[in-house]
Amino acid sequence: MDLALEAAVRSEAMRHLTRREAHDAVYFSRSERFDFRGEKIRFMSRQTGIWKPRQLSAALSISTTFTPPTRERPYDDSVIGPDGLGRYKWRGTDPDQADNRALRTAMINELPLIWFLAFDRGRYAAIHPVYLIREEAAQHQFVVAVDAIQQLDSIDVIHPGIDIQLAHVSRETKQRLHQAPFRAAVLDAYTCRCAICRFGHASLLDAAHIAPDSEGGLPTVTNGLSLCKMHHGAYDSGLIGITPDLVVQVNHDVLNEIDGPMLRHGIQGFHGQSLMVVPRHAWQQPDRDALEVRYQQFLSAGT
Ligand SMILES: [Zn+2]
Repeated sequence: MDLALEAAVRSEAMRHLTRREAHDAVYFSRSERFDFRGEKIRFMSRQTGIWKPRQLSAALSISTTFTPPTRERPYDDSVIGPDGLGRYKWRGTDPDQADNRALRTAMINELPLIWFLAFDRGRYAAIHPVYLIREEAAQHQFVVAVDAIQQLDSIDVIHPGIDIQLAHVSRETKQRLHQAPFRAAVLDAYTCRCAICRFGHASLLDAAHIAPDSEGGLPTVTNGLSLCKMHHGAYDSGLIGITPDLVVQVNHDVLNEIDGPMLRHGIQGFHGQSLMVVPRHAWQQPDRDALEVRYQQFLSAGT
């Protein structure tokens, strides 16, 4: 195996993803390719979850298919193990199957991979780099560290059983596995615009939770709002509330403040206005009950 080639292809693939993300790409499809020394290389297999381009000996990416929105949690604990690290199933049950061997080769050589998580049919959020750090043959699966820090820490995670570290790893893993598809799903539902002001640069847009993560709010599209950094901050700090009827309300004190154009146009100007962008499909629209709870919190904090 040509380790230099393995590394070069990976670094070009990840550079391509990072560049696309910086240029407002919110999701990726199976047909996407990148250029490597004049050749077009796919990011994902056409049909299966494990992908090894013919130029390589080790797998380049893994992908997890779409879970319909009726299911409560988009990525349940089957992708996160009891040690807080990710899990990815073999293809079938034969350890010598070619795709499984390609994953093992990536693991043995500590090569970074890309994990594509579908949030809709054919639409994927990308997490990279991830590393395969162990194999659990009895469960037909690999253990996945979702960043380089977890990869380095993995020895400690396995052995001493330090609860604080376990909790930390678990939180990091959930954060990355949930956040990437959540953000992609929410931004896509709002056509990559801020719900309040229609600002449209994805790199300055967040998927805001309506029911906060810390209060058990799920990373599902109906618990999300696509908001620009400014309006996300204003929403989370109680400067702005959103009624269950999707009308923006500005905190009373803030409404009477006198300041520069950002306050006047960016905040006060939206008082009493309906959200400018609302998802087209009912199943993507914000949950009215969650909005109501959050709006009551906004009202009680402002008095
Ligand atoms: Zn905005």
